[in-house]
Amino acid sequence: MKRIIIIGGGVAGLGAAYKVTRAALEGHDVEFILLEKDPRLGGKIQTEFVPDPSEKGRFIVDGGPDCFLTEKPACHRIAKLTGIFDDELPTDDSRKRTWILSCGKLHQMPDGVMMFAPTKFLPFATTGLFSWSGKIRMGRDLFIPPKKVAPGEFNDETLESFVVRRMGRECLDRLAEPLVGGVHASDPKQMSLAATFPRLLEMEQNYGSLLKAFIAIRRKVEEMRRKYPTKPGEKPRTFFTSFANGMQQLTDSMADAAGRACMRTGVSVTSLQHRPKGGWHTLLSDGSSVDGDAVIVATESWTAEPLLRPIDRDIADALAAIPASSSATISIAFHENEVGFDLNAFGVLCPLVENRALMAATYSSTKWPGRAPKGKVLLRGFVGGPHNQEILKRSDQELVQIVLTEFHEILGLNPFAKPLFSRVFRWVLGMPQYTLGHLDRIVLIENRSAQIPGLALAGGSYRGVGIPNCIESGERAVSKILSEWGIDLPEDHIEEKRYY
Ligand SMILES: Cc1cc2nc3c(=O)[nH]c(=O)nc-3n(C[C@H](O)[C@H](O)[C@H](O)COP(=O)(O)OP(=O)(O)OC[C@H]3O[C@@H](n4cnc5c(N)ncnc54)[C@H](O)[C@@H]3O)c2cc1C
Repeated sequence: MKRIIIIGGGVAGLGAAYKVTRAALEGHDVEFILLEKDPRLGGKIQTEFVPDPSEKGRFIVDGGPDCFLTEKPACHRIAKLTGIFDDELPTDDSRKRTWILSCGKLHQMPDGVMMFAPTKFLPFATTGLFSWSGKIRMGRDLFIPPKKVAPGEFNDETLESFVVRRMGRECLDRLAEPLVGGVHASDPKQMSLAATFPRLLEMEQNYGSLLKAFIAIRRKVEEMRRKYPTKPGEKPRTFFTSFANGMQQLTDSMADAAGRACMRTGVSVTSLQHRPKGGWHTLLSDGSSVDGDAVIVATESWTAEPLLRPIDRDIADALAAIPASSSATISIAFHENEVGFDLNAFGVLCPLVENRALMAATYSSTKWPGRAPKGKVLLRGFVGGPHNQEILKRSDQELVQIVLTEFHEILGLNPFAKPLFSRVFRWVLGMPQYTLGHLDRIVLIENRSAQIPGLALAGGSYRGVGIPNCIESGERAVSKILSEWGIDLPEDHIEEKRYY
């Protein structure tokens, strides 16, 4: 029996564990042991159930991610395999509206905006979100020739330089930074497009204009929706999806299906050794040790770095060059009749140029049915990011007070609305930053670990922070190791048409 040690019990480590279990069920002689530093599994995915203080019912509070991108298949595939597919939860699009703060006032995001590109003329022309000169500058994208890329040249640039070059600074400041940079909690001045949104670079080359490209995509999506309409009884296809019991339902189902008996929580791996004759030895924080034939390091890059330094200095140097930023989410519940503002929206984005502590607010109980009992409301604020690491020094109480003040001044929360409870979740160095040069670092890490038998890395620090990407990275790590042992598993597959 060959044993794989998996370090880290986030969604990537669990994706790896579940893949090993599936291989074992198919008759391969493999097993895993998963080691997780925290007392709980799931890593950044964390859901808390808070009983309604006054009545029956409960709030479902997601402290980290609250959804995944519907078009990516990995979460659906896992949900089907683990039996929670019916619990997938689409957003309540009857109440879909996003507000953007501009010059201290809230403006509705114009209908037809895809990423940061307007694709419908009238809503764009009439929005107060941009000045007329800003709108004209965005329209000039239609006439600006695409960047010249020599054959074989690697095409990359920062989000800032790309958006300013094509659509102007106002588009960056008012839309692209909060919408696109915000997803990665990243600084647009540093963020590599090739590592985060390579499709934008391709669209420029293929269509010559982003506006033309996005208009073509919108038409294609509309055509597909007409061709494959939602069948009676089928859930609506929304852009984002969650689970009825919060995002942790996904990682819980993965841990159950993979086998919790092979998982140890509350112990961290303090050192890793590659034995000269093959095999791996780990020392744990409780003084014990674990041996295996292979190891998957599925931790954040900055915790992987010291473990891998004695194994390969170049890998460790590349890991050390991946920065990460810290953030926090603050969820606060209220009586619906006390909040004093219109709750028919998914949330508010606060661009950096507005200089607010709040980066974004989600109206969690509007966006996701069932997140709060009837008559109650759950709101979530997001603070931190590369431009405001200082705020993480504040106490939980101070963070709640800061977010309440921001909700009052930005959302219009009634200052007398009494919070029913609040929850603060801190994500210290929780968001890897894919800066320029990121892909070079990843290629180096992958090439060098390919030379080391029985070693693979997985997780959100490498090829995508999204939950589906993390699952696939864990699965790829298992495939790398099993193929070294002569076991070639079939590709995981799901029909994608359903999720277009
Ligand atoms: C606030 C926030 C909101 C987000 N929102 C979304 C969203 O809505 N949708 C989306 O798709 N993505 C979102 N993301 C990104 C996504 O959550 C992460 O990229 C993903 O969960 C990372 O999974 P992972 O398994 O790679 O890492 P992690 O979840 O960080 O897991 C790594 C695990 O390794 C453990 N570990 C570290 N060192 C050791 C050691 N030495 N020994 C043992 N264990 C160790 C850690 O304790 C941790 O549990 C969000 C992230 C944050 C922080």
